[in-house]
Amino acid sequence: MDTHSQVVDRLRVAFRSGVTIQEQFRRTQLNNLISMLKENEEQIINVLHKDLAKPKFEVVLSEVDIVINELYFAIANLKSWMKQEYVSKNLATKLDDCFVRREPLGVVLIIGAWNYPLQLLILPMVGAIAAGNCVIVKPSEISAATANLIAELIPKYLSQDCYAVVQGGAEETKALLQNRFDHILYTGSQNVARSILQAAAVHLTPVTLELGGKCPCLIYGQVNLAATARRLVWAKYFNSGQSCVAPDYVLCSPAARDALLPELRIAIKDFYGEEPQACPDLSRIVSLRHWTHVMELLGRSKGKVVVGGESDQEDKYIAPTVVVDVAEDDALMQEEIFGPVMPILCIDSLEEGIALINRKEKPLALYVFSEESSVVTTVLENTSSGGFCSNDGILHMTLPSLPFGGVGASGWGSYHGRWGFETFSHRRACMLRGWGLEKLNGLRYPPYSERKLSWLRWSASPKSICSLM
Ligand code: NAD
Repeated sequence: MDTHSQVVDRLRVAFRSGVTIQEQFRRTQLNNLISMLKENEEQIINVLHKDLAKPKFEVVLSEVDIVINELYFAIANLKSWMKQEYVSKNLATKLDDCFVRREPLGVVLIIGAWNYPLQLLILPMVGAIAAGNCVIVKPSEISAATANLIAELIPKYLSQDCYAVVQGGAEETKALLQNRFDHILYTGSQNVARSILQAAAVHLTPVTLELGGKCPCLIYGQVNLAATARRLVWAKYFNSGQSCVAPDYVLCSPAARDALLPELRIAIKDFYGEEPQACPDLSRIVSLRHWTHVMELLGRSKGKVVVGGESDQEDKYIAPTVVVDVAEDDALMQEEIFGPVMPILCIDSLEEGIALINRKEKPLALYVFSEESSVVTTVLENTSSGGFCSNDGILHMTLPSLPFGGVGASGWGSYHGRWGFETFSHRRACMLRGWGLEKLNGLRYPPYSERKLSWLRWSASPKSICSLM
């Protein structure tokens, strides 16, 4: 088996050969990824059931189709994304060709997390391939069945000279990171992100960080409570709460909470039945360690469990749970929950809710439910987050035309659609000069004079563009 550095070297040789530069080569690889997903859908469903007991429905939506849609989007737009972008000019550069050229970065590394183990590797890979890079993907060892399938399929469908899968946990990833990459995209926790940055700093490698945090959900003013409850329950308990964009906690007035609770109970019962543990539509927590962590957070909470709360260690099961009377300093509010536990905190005004959100790190997603557009706008304009969605959860990240990524502690940079292509491209500033207007050039050569200076200032200013048009 090749060592890490042999794999990186092999890909670097392929990159330098220029094979990935051709549009047709990129197209072929993207089409091969579509075939890989379509021809192996059943196996993909099986491995995700092994890793997380993910229902087929959720696998198709959030692991297979979201990536296939991204692939079709990239293939349809590849030509225009690759085109040179001509820019406006001033008098001094009027006769020159001035454009931005998107160039691949080289050999890039994509490190994935376990909660959407296929999507989080292949979706960024779409942008990296479209941009013409060679790519190493490192799946999470925690979702081992999916990692093994990815390691089996990628070499079957993609060029082995240009793309590779490296498997392993923390130690193997640290060893892999000793190699020089031209870009690293990391998805995972904030703590590990710090060691990724340290390793990248050695080679001055640019990094995109797709991290987590606590995504707030603010419910305020006039609101359709039944629809709110259904949308919220779906977004929170999809993949058993193990989504980086899951609503982490709810903020609402005491009256809204009292009215919402019966609707939440109805929605949970409608979706998962009287006995959610027997319902095939609810995933399990990925490992005993992660299960114990969520249960410990719940155990340390001073809040009151009003829905769910049941659990089964052997089955890594936690019931869809709602906790009320939760204070800002509660255990459930100190870190991302990443499980099917929904704390509700009471606020007396919109300003109080906004202030609470702004006291915390900037979240990956922020949700507001209200029929009053002024409430939605007020929250949008007075907060910051990676993404924003009103009157629903998670859905904003399914649209390839919107960038997906965090801000501040929830991440750096973004991908999806054109944004992924841009992340893995260098925007090279190009000016192709001719030999004309040498007289005009004479303005910048010594001997300097006040007259030359004022002509130069005018010819280089945006005003000279306007007066030329
Ligand atoms: P994790 O940080 O434990 O692992 C992620 C990856 O890092 C894995 O491939 C793992 O092998 C590797 N890794 C682990 N320890 C390492 C180390 N010391 N050095 C180098 N590599 C190491 O994260 P996780 O538990 O897999 O994922 C959960 C977190 O990821 C949550 O915070 C969640 O919100 C976040 N997340 C974010 C997004 C997003 O798109 N923003 C998506 C999914 C998950």
